[in-house]
Amino acid sequence: MSKSYLSAPHFHNEEAAYKFIESRIWPNGPICPHCGGVEKNRKMQGRSTRIGVYKCYDCRKPFRVTVGTIFEASHIPLNVWLQAIFLVATSKKGVSSNQLHRMLGITLKSAWFMSHRIREAMRENGLEVFGVEGGDVEVDETFIGHDRTIKPKGVKKGRGYHHKNKVLSLIDRSTGKAKSIVVDDLKAKTLLPILQANIAREARILTDEAGQYRYLRMHFRDHGFVKHGLGEYVSKSDPTKHTNIIEGFFSVFKRGMKGVYQHCGHNHLHRYLAEFDFRYNNRKALGVEDQERAEKLLQGVKGKRLTYQTTAQ
Ligand SMILES: [Zn+2]
Repeated sequence: MSKSYLSAPHFHNEEAAYKFIESRIWPNGPICPHCGGVEKNRKMQGRSTRIGVYKCYDCRKPFRVTVGTIFEASHIPLNVWLQAIFLVATSKKGVSSNQLHRMLGITLKSAWFMSHRIREAMRENGLEVFGVEGGDVEVDETFIGHDRTIKPKGVKKGRGYHHKNKVLSLIDRSTGKAKSIVVDDLKAKTLLPILQANIAREARILTDEAGQYRYLRMHFRDHGFVKHGLGEYVSKSDPTKHTNIIEGFFSVFKRGMKGVYQHCGHNHLHRYLAEFDFRYNNRKALGVEDQERAEKLLQGVKGKRLTYQTTAQ
C-alpha cells in the first residue's frame, strides 16, 4: 500500500513545515525581507529561539519566511496551515470555516480568518486576456445569495434577480480557464467595458440569447448564441455554439456556495469566486493533480498579507 500523502512530516511537525515552505519561497536560500540581503543570513539555533528564525548580518535584523505572507501574524502553527491549504486546494466544492474549525482543532474565528487568507492566496492577478488569436470565449451570468446592499424593489419581494448577487464569468475554450467577476447589474453598458477589458477583440463570444449580449457582434470578431428560452442548448447549424462549459463551471460553484458555504456577504463574494476560479484553472482535466494544486496555492501566499480589518464583515 502506498503511503498517505497526509502522513508527510510537514503536516505534523512545525519545523518540517518551515523547511517545506522555505524551500518553496526561497528556492535559492533565505532572503532578508528588510534589506534584500542573500549573503549573510544565518539560522538562529539557540534553545530559546523560535522556529524558523534567521538573522541577517547585513542589517542585523531577524526574520522568518512568513514575513509578508498570509501566515504573518498568525498564531496557528505552520503545519496546521499546510493541512488547511491542502484541504482547501483538493476539495472541489471548498471547505467551510466550520469544518476547518472541527477538523483542525482551532477556534471558529481562527478558521474563518484562515480561510479568507487562503482564498487570498488563490487570487490570481486576472490580467490574462481571454480569446487571443481569435479563440472562443463563453460568457454567462449567474445569481447567488442575497445582496443585502440592495433594497428590495416594489412588492414582489424575493422574486426576480434584482436583489441577488450577480456574477459574470468567462471561459476561454482554448486554455480551459475561467475568470469570474462580481457585477452590480447586468446592463449592456455595465458589462461591455468588463468584457472588453478581459477579452481580445478578435475573439468569438458565445452566450445565451439574453438582451445584454445582443450587441457584442459589434465589438468582437463574432458572437454566437443559443436560445435557452426555446430549449436550444447547442446550435443545430453550428454545434460549437453553446455555453455548456460555463454551465458546468457554474454548477460546481453553486453546489459549493449552497452546500458548503451556505451564504456569503456581497463584500466577500469576490474572494469565493477567486477560490472557485483557482481550483477550476488548476483542475485535473488540465493536468494539475491535487499535490501540484496545493503547491501552486502555496506560491500565492507571498505578498498577500491580510489584516483582520480587511477581512472583517
Ligand atoms: Zn537584512
